[in-house]
Amino acid sequence: MHTPVLQLAGVHKTFRLGQHIVPALRGVDLSLARGEMLALTGPSGSGKSTLLHIAGLIEQADAGQVLLQSRPVQALSEHEATRLRRDTIGFVFQGFNLVPVMTVFDNVDYPLFIAGVPVAERRRRVGAMLEAVGLAAHARHRPDALSGGQRQRVAIARALVKQPALVLADEPTANLDSHTASQVLDLMREQGHAQGAAFLLATHDARLQQRCDRVLHLRDGCIENTPAVLEAAA
Ligand code: ADP
Ligand code: MG
Repeated sequence: MHTPVLQLAGVHKTFRLGQHIVPALRGVDLSLARGEMLALTGPSGSGKSTLLHIAGLIEQADAGQVLLQSRPVQALSEHEATRLRRDTIGFVFQGFNLVPVMTVFDNVDYPLFIAGVPVAERRRRVGAMLEAVGLAAHARHRPDALSGGQRQRVAIARALVKQPALVLADEPTANLDSHTASQVLDLMREQGHAQGAAFLLATHDARLQQRCDRVLHLRDGCIENTPAVLEAAA
C-alpha cells in the first residue's frame, strides 16, 4: 500500500464576518490515494472551495489534521508551506486565471520558471505539455485569443507541467459547454493518469462525477454518505 497523497482528519474551519460566525467545514475526514480522481460535490456554500483551499495550503484548518504526502502541514513554516505547495500541487481554479499579457507558452512555463528549472528543460517540457493538450499551434497566442475550452486546457497544462502529486480543481468545467467539458475532463484524466497524479475536483457537473473514481458529497461542511452507499446499506 502506498501512503495517501492527501489525508484530512477531523478538519474544521470557521470564518468570522464581524459578529457572524460561519462554519465552513465541520469535521471532514478524507483520504486520497496516489493516482485517484475524487469528485467533491454538494450545494453552493457546503464547503467545497474551503476544503480545496485547505488541501492546497492556501488556508489553514482551525482544528484537525492535514497530511500532504504524509507531512503534517500545520507544522510547516510559511516558507516550507510555499515550497511544498509549489513542488506538490497543481491548481486548476477558476479564480487562478491565466496571465493575460503572457503568451500561452509563457503561462505554462511560469511554474517551471518559478521552480528554477533550467531553460532548455523548460522549453522541452512546456512544448511536450502543449502538444499533449493539443495547443502546440497556439503557443505564441495570448489567452484572450483562445476559446473557453482552450483556455482551460492551458490551465490544465500549467497545472500538470510540474508533474504534481496532487491536482486541485475548483469547478474546472463550470463555464464550458458539455462537449468541451467532457473533452477537458478526459484530458485531465489521461494526462493525470500518465503522471500518476491524484485529483480532487469540486464540481456540480454530473458527467464529470461519473468519470471520477469516487464521489464525496459535502453538506453544511460535513461529508455525508452518498445515496448509493445508503441504498446498498438498506
Ligand atoms: P462551496 O465552494 O461549496 O460553495 P465555500 O467553501 O465557498 O463553499 O463556502 C463554505 C461556507 O464558508 C459558506 O457559508 C461561505 O459563505 C463561507 N466562506 C467561505 N469563504 C469565506 C471567507 N473568506 N470569509 C467568510 N466566509 C467564507
Ligand atoms: Mg466553491
